[in-house]
Amino acid sequence: MELEPGGRHACHAAAWPVWQALVAAAAEAGIELAAVSAYRGFAQQEVIWNAKWRGERAVLNRAGEPVEMAQMNAAERVAAILAWSALPGASRHHWGTEFDVIDRAALPSGYAVQLVPAEYAAGGPFAKLGRWLDENLHGLGFHRPYRRDLGGVAPEPWHLSCTTVAGEASRRLRLAHLHEAIAGSAMEGRAAVLAELPALYERYVRRVDRPPPLRKRPTK
Ligand SMILES: [Zn+2]
Repeated sequence: MELEPGGRHACHAAAWPVWQALVAAAAEAGIELAAVSAYRGFAQQEVIWNAKWRGERAVLNRAGEPVEMAQMNAAERVAAILAWSALPGASRHHWGTEFDVIDRAALPSGYAVQLVPAEYAAGGPFAKLGRWLDENLHGLGFHRPYRRDLGGVAPEPWHLSCTTVAGEASRRLRLAHLHEAIAGSAMEGRAAVLAELPALYERYVRRVDRPPPLRKRPTK
């Protein structure tokens, strides 16, 4: 994954004005909201997945500690990767509606962003951003699908979802399409993934925090 705070990223055209409004609102609070990742396609997610499967890229357990992929069977590898990385084909980043964010104004000089929960907790460089998101995200068109630990994807305080556009993409997503995409790919471990795809789909794709209901406008 590119974690270049100054890098360029793509998003869905309908999410762009919502994102710009969020950036402007954050700026008023002294936060320089920047995306370190937004749209990612299947091929990019497959590169991340395969590097983790092969042990070429660090895989962390749910507590954030590195695990040894070489000592795990296929099902264990799948579960280990899915705590922090999506299945190619099932990443919400494919939709162009998701943004992994930092506060560029709070970046210590020379600091390498890792996107780990400690960066957003008290004492971390993005603690102020985390608090601001807690208080303001709702009402600005975004929500956090990985806000709490629901036993699927581990909590990701940096991951924002453009609620209406992502909702449409989510409604269109089908297990059958995901099966077809993975079966036709060169993804490592795809046999193990396909063998338990319905359960993985339920746990790591569908089990997300829903946006809070939007307040109804008064009718008169
Ligand atoms: Zn993300």
